[in-house]
Amino acid sequence: MQQLSEFAIIDRYFKQQTTSRSDVVLGIGDDAALLQMPPSQLLVAAVDTLVAGVHFPLQTSPSDIAYKALAVNLSDLAAMGAMPAWFTLALTMPESNPVWLENFASGLFKLASQYQMQLIGGDTTRGPLSVTIQVHGFVPPQQALLRSGARPGDLIYVSGTLGDAGLGLRAATGQCDLPQPARDYVLQRLNRPTPQVELGLLLRDYASSAIDISDGLLADLQHILDESGTGAEVHAGQLPISKVLGESVPREEAVRLALSAGDDYELCFTVPPGKENAMLEALKKINIKCSRIGLVTRGSGLDLKEFSEKISTGYKHF
Ligand code: ADP
Ligand code: MG
Repeated sequence: MQQLSEFAIIDRYFKQQTTSRSDVVLGIGDDAALLQMPPSQLLVAAVDTLVAGVHFPLQTSPSDIAYKALAVNLSDLAAMGAMPAWFTLALTMPESNPVWLENFASGLFKLASQYQMQLIGGDTTRGPLSVTIQVHGFVPPQQALLRSGARPGDLIYVSGTLGDAGLGLRAATGQCDLPQPARDYVLQRLNRPTPQVELGLLLRDYASSAIDISDGLLADLQHILDESGTGAEVHAGQLPISKVLGESVPREEAVRLALSAGDDYELCFTVPPGKENAMLEALKKINIKCSRIGLVTRGSGLDLKEFSEKISTGYKHF
């Protein structure tokens, strides 16, 4: 197979992008990028690594790997209420295969161009497949959505539906057989999660706290509770479950996935009761479905209603 040099790879696959931002003073090609910040905004930075066999099954297509690597980072920006702008890419791969790279770049820039994000640099190395993306975005001071802002009495909401990616992982790894189009739907949810960027921007005006759901609702909501010094009551009966998930597994199992499976990349956020109506009106305009699932309480701990069994939460690397 044809092997490309490091510089040929960068030139051919990563310099070609449709987004060209005026705030990128100097992009790919020098020792570092030069970037112009908008006046009086904070820089929001986040980084996430996807390791083959850990974060995605080995047979995942390169375009899905790239798409997801950027999407999970965009999801972190969304959870901060940030406007996306730039990203860097550190790519480690076992060989330089042109077909693989072409496919990888197409998934990457498909999502990047949707958010007018520009790739501004990176690093290219040989080794076991691993993709690290760092994203940069902006938020006005005082408007960032933090994990620490929830207060007793606030209402707990989640966007979209939960548990679909968990079922997608089972489908991708041969643990369950689904008919079409259910299989395509859950694989799409696993491999091409939609980062809730627009919702994050809207929530600047309403939410008291937010987090994105990467490790499962219970695990991630617990981070809000820990950082805010509060407890919560969550109603299993109010969890948003897609038609596909509801029809594919028994109810108990759907709820279990919605509570504990990761990879959905929806937002979980809290809203002071006085802002709820205005928020619901604003949500209608952007046509994003959000569901109220519980209440922030005094004290500590998460009180799960309408579900009896104990759930183990969150994937932990160490
Ligand atoms: P250096 O040795 O100074 O770190 P490199 O040879 O690693 O420079 O990279 C050369 C240029 O190409 C730099 O501007 C770097 O940011 C960019 N670059 C390297 N790899 C990637 C990549 N995977 N995606 C985007 N830009 C990259
Ligand atoms: Mg380098």
